[in-house]
Amino acid sequence: MIAVISDIHGNLEALEAVLEDTRRESVDQIICLGDVVGYGADPNECLERVRNESVATVLGNHDLAACDLSQAENFNEVARSAIRWTSEALTARNREILASHPYEFVEGDMRYVHASPDDPAAWHYILTEQEAWNAFGACDEPICFVGHSHVPLRVFLRGGRLEVIEDDVVDVGLDDRALINVGSVGQPRDGDWRASYNLFDPVTRRIVARRVEYDIDEASRKIREAGLPEILATRLTVGQ
Ligand code: ZN
Repeated sequence: MIAVISDIHGNLEALEAVLEDTRRESVDQIICLGDVVGYGADPNECLERVRNESVATVLGNHDLAACDLSQAENFNEVARSAIRWTSEALTARNREILASHPYEFVEGDMRYVHASPDDPAAWHYILTEQEAWNAFGACDEPICFVGHSHVPLRVFLRGGRLEVIEDDVVDVGLDDRALINVGSVGQPRDGDWRASYNLFDPVTRRIVARRVEYDIDEASRKIREAGLPEILATRLTVGQ
């Protein structure tokens, strides 16, 4: 069983809760779709946890910006101030490791990328039908996992038509193509404060959406203590 996680954003409490959940679900491989850092108060700790668990990780836009602040120019003010804080907090070694993450990787029938397989370094969001078509067009593998928007989404291409799947459990048929946004571990934005990730069984091709409660008070307390923008603490409680 594979666990696909994304957008941890320095939220150690959420990451620990998700890792705990993967142990209960007998996961044997964890893949992270990037943005391990940015926003939350524990960038080094999250990177180290991910590394200790041998999580294969792709590069996210916040990861890149934490290594190269010139990449944060189009960030909003809160994100930019958080990324400056993160960049200073990161150890040199961790910055080096972050910068070495690839934009995407392929394993069998699956492609893993932070934003979109349609020019990964352009950080396109997949929010519209056109963007979903562009993503399918740029991906040779039948199944593509993405993060970036912090909003879970499953779009299937079946019989030449796009279909948005709302169920928590879905099987990818042999003729299907699937674009799966697994949501965010450390800063969900779909109105549900619980950490989001997906389980994927490569044999049955079943995908299961998981939501996990975590110690939000502690994560918020650390954000305030670090002097990060207050909104980063309050938004966790509403999942926005
Ligand atoms: Zn993100």
